[in-house]
Amino acid sequence: METPQMRSMFEIYHFKIINYTMCYFCQKNIEDIDFKNTELLSRFISGFYKIKPRKKTELCMHHQKKIATAIKRARQIGILPHTPR
Ligand SMILES: [Zn+2]
Repeated sequence: METPQMRSMFEIYHFKIINYTMCYFCQKNIEDIDFKNTELLSRFISGFYKIKPRKKTELCMHHQKKIATAIKRARQIGILPHTPR
């Protein structure tokens, strides 16, 4: 019971999933994330300075963990804020 229209929808859906799972650091082949690079880290925090979840950052598990650790380290040495105010 699969119409051609349904099938194309399915393919588009899968294409999107494949695109979403492309990790930024895996693409650029970056292994070590510098916690002093606040410009890079600020891409992965929300407006309320929370660490963005993996669904929003589109990173792989390995790099998401590294980014979370880097942000926490940056907060501890005081170059990234914990809260907006
Ligand atoms: Zn990755």
